[in-house]
Amino acid sequence: MFCSKSSLAFLFMVLLQSEISLAISTDSTLDKFITCAQVHSSVTIPISKTIFNPKNSSYTSVLQNPAVNLRFIEPSVRKPEFIFTPLHDAHVQAAVICSKQLGIQIRIRSGGHDYEGVSYTSVFETRFIVVDIGNLRSIIVDIEKSSAWVQAGATNGEVYYRIAEKSKIHAYPAGACTSLGIGGHITGGGYGSLHRKYGLAADNVIDARIVDANGRILDREAMGEDLFWAIRGGGGASFGIILWWKIKLVPVPETVTVFTVTKTLEEGATKLLYRWQQVADKVDEDLLIRVLISPSNVSSTRTISTTYDGFFLGNSDRLLQVIQESFPELGVTRKDCVELDWIGSVMYLSNNPSGTSVEFLLQRKSVFRTYFKAKSDFVRDPIPETALEGIWKLLLEEDSPVVLLSPYGGKMSKISESETPFPHRSGTIFIFEYMTVWTDGEKGTEKHKGWIRKLYGYLTPYVSKFPREAYVNYRDFDLGVNKNSNTSYIEASVWGKKYFKNNFDRLVKVKTEVDPDNFFRHEQSIPPLPVWKN
Ligand SMILES: Cc1cc2nc3c(=O)[nH]c(=O)nc-3n(C[C@H](O)[C@H](O)[C@H](O)COP(=O)(O)OP(=O)(O)OC[C@H]3O[C@@H](n4cnc5c(N)ncnc54)[C@H](O)[C@@H]3O)c2cc1C
Repeated sequence: MFCSKSSLAFLFMVLLQSEISLAISTDSTLDKFITCAQVHSSVTIPISKTIFNPKNSSYTSVLQNPAVNLRFIEPSVRKPEFIFTPLHDAHVQAAVICSKQLGIQIRIRSGGHDYEGVSYTSVFETRFIVVDIGNLRSIIVDIEKSSAWVQAGATNGEVYYRIAEKSKIHAYPAGACTSLGIGGHITGGGYGSLHRKYGLAADNVIDARIVDANGRILDREAMGEDLFWAIRGGGGASFGIILWWKIKLVPVPETVTVFTVTKTLEEGATKLLYRWQQVADKVDEDLLIRVLISPSNVSSTRTISTTYDGFFLGNSDRLLQVIQESFPELGVTRKDCVELDWIGSVMYLSNNPSGTSVEFLLQRKSVFRTYFKAKSDFVRDPIPETALEGIWKLLLEEDSPVVLLSPYGGKMSKISESETPFPHRSGTIFIFEYMTVWTDGEKGTEKHKGWIRKLYGYLTPYVSKFPREAYVNYRDFDLGVNKNSNTSYIEASVWGKKYFKNNFDRLVKVKTEVDPDNFFRHEQSIPPLPVWKN
């Protein structure tokens, strides 16, 4: 296009005016939101103190501190117009009522661990706000009733700490990483070290309080069993904002045992991993052995290390007996075993730096904060040794890849596929998570994404099929995304069936009933069916 000086000046004026009008409309939206939220929240805490817009010096830190995947805080990524950090349940209600009234899209954040940054950025919304409920984190533990009410902004580490503070023989089965927001984590399932014995975090929820699309606070009885089913595994931010979970505590012995055994390729890692696949989901339910795989350097040679992290509900004598009967090839000895209480095992398995005190759990800090892209698969038949060798070759091509294999079986196999939206149950030997991490910012993204897609392609013959299953808590946009607010059932089924199998249909039905206008939406939210109104 050819531009004269005067037309450039004109263009400049137009641009300047539109910038000014955008800023004005943004400010007035914010003012209207504050006024509306003040009216609709039945508490006297001033709303203005809970809002951060780009003019506040703390906007950037409030936005970025909880974000775990640094890819989504890069300057090129869309930012919210403002961040609302409620201090009371009524504020969350007001956020829904007022956003709806003002036509503002919201993103909901508890712990900020979403793999694709869905809780604080957006691919398809140009204007949105973040409702960050990290301040809402009360935990009320009732040991006598073996239950606890937990506000959704708490981390799982805080929940573990508060349980252990009251009892050494109670626990909650949820994730191993201790900085996960309980709001987002439970909505997708949640597994860690106790799922073989007791199932997922979502399997151990007995009640909840949620703000629905009309701004009402509903408990289990008021929301009904369909919605209560959908929020326990149907993925975050499709049905409402979870305020509280009532969780069931599970019994654990006073002494549990953990161990770590590492084998490299030179020490027979391939054969051992093949054997692990034959026993991992069948061993005693009190035992869980997960495997962490990554390249390592041994005497200046790059090789593959497979690290077996074991967790056992009992003392080391009984553990050694169980291992001897089911997996003697691992070669666990008494000196590999560490006896701890349950909260001690949480610290051991969470990859927090060794020697970290349990009080660290109250700091809500993630030890993992980097640029990454991850994927998940579910394995139903052992991957042959020759195929494992192909995986090693691919891992050795990449800078910093990590693979985590977690066995299922036990209680996981006894819960039916449709009991909750999480369908990866009987017949699953293990979940296969793979990830590549890097530190050189945005410029590394395409290269590393290319590598992980190659591994995904390579794994095709060895993992679940029709559909190729994936874990919704390991969100992966490569599986497909909603185009905008009008994604069809067919389009969303592409990724929806992978996460939920046939439960996707029931999720769509619930969504259509509780949020027909699709107020709670994001790139992988459950779409409602079109509803024709008179
Ligand atoms: C380092 C790391 C370790 C992990 N370890 C495990 C593990 O051991 N086991 C496991 O099962 N998973 C694990 N995960 C995955 C984790 O369970 C998910 O990322 C989970 O969604 C995180 O929840 P969050 O609240 O921290 O994240 P957020 O980013 O805040 O939220 C995730 C999703 O839930 C929605 N959401 C958040 N809060 C609410 C709410 N109150 N109501 C409704 N929707 C909400 C968000 O909008 C978003 O869609 C891990 C993730 C990371 C990054």
